[in-house]
Amino acid sequence: MSAHATLTRLIEAARNWHDSLPELRAFALWPDDLVWADRPAQPLPVIDHITRTPGHASAQSQPLRDALVAAAPHVEWRHSYTEAEVGRDFLNRFGWFELAGPSGHFLTQSLRVTVGYWGAGLDYGWHEHLPEEIYSVVSGRALFHLRDAPDLMLEPGNTRFHPANAPHAMTTLTDPILTLVLWRGAGLGDDPRMSQ
Ligand code: ZN
Repeated sequence: MSAHATLTRLIEAARNWHDSLPELRAFALWPDDLVWADRPAQPLPVIDHITRTPGHASAQSQPLRDALVAAAPHVEWRHSYTEAEVGRDFLNRFGWFELAGPSGHFLTQSLRVTVGYWGAGLDYGWHEHLPEEIYSVVSGRALFHLRDAPDLMLEPGNTRFHPANAPHAMTTLTDPILTLVLWRGAGLGDDPRMSQ
């Protein structure tokens, strides 16, 4: 299947996922102005990991997980962080891409929809950003940390909201995690920054 067909199937699966989770529906409307951007693939080592160990899905999340695995070779993977910040092992088993947003595979200014994958046994350190954020777990599981809030172990279908500029972090234990994340508000094109 072509990149366009694969990503069209993915954006439809992502929309169905959004529509099926009340927390995501309450966070933002699904963009109605999406335009295909024909963005080239940017391969990273994470493709091998997401293909071999995508993590356990629920019956509800399996269509999106499978669409994400199929799309993995066709997307513009990013790291944003440097080896000095997070280490080589982290960079080898982590990646994210912008499915929809100001610089996504589908363009919109109203929302940012990103996908992130982390292998098992990684510490994603404290970081922050201006836009408000909601994580949803598609497959696998991880421990989510948020300043002044209890740690939460999140599994497929679970969500967590991160307020503007609130430091948060994540730890994977024995499982990897595959997430779909929404941003809203000012700064949609920003990169997260490690907390000082
Ligand atoms: Zn965040």
